[in-house]
Amino acid sequence: MSEITTRNVNKPDAQWREELTPEQFAILRESGTEPPFTGEYWDTKADGSYRCRGCGAMLFGSDTKFDSGTGWPSFSEPAVADAVELRPDNSLLMRRTEVVCRNCGGHLGHVFPDGPGSGGQRYCINSCSLAFDPADKVD
Ligand SMILES: [Zn+2]
Repeated sequence: MSEITTRNVNKPDAQWREELTPEQFAILRESGTEPPFTGEYWDTKADGSYRCRGCGAMLFGSDTKFDSGTGWPSFSEPAVADAVELRPDNSLLMRRTEVVCRNCGGHLGHVFPDGPGSGGQRYCINSCSLAFDPADKVD
């Protein structure tokens, strides 16, 4: 089976490498994971929105961010349901669900069914995949 996915943002790896730091590239384009408690946003509590570091798409809002104790930014749901795409990930001998930016295909993290909200979801997202916009900056 071949997967045909249309992205709004399509760039060759060489271009991504120029635009992203090596760590951001490893996560967004190669599905890497940053070490817990090291990312820029795992403990961020400010009001604002989190955009895709690769393409700027709006992904998550601070109103759904919660302290999961995992060391990664965690959200109960995306700000815009269509902004993310979920796909099965059976790597590392685990059955997980990968979260991808629909706009650019960038790897964001994984979603687990043990969240605190009514939807019961925990979006476990790498700081490296996100760019935070403080609420007082956006107007
Ligand atoms: Zn994106």
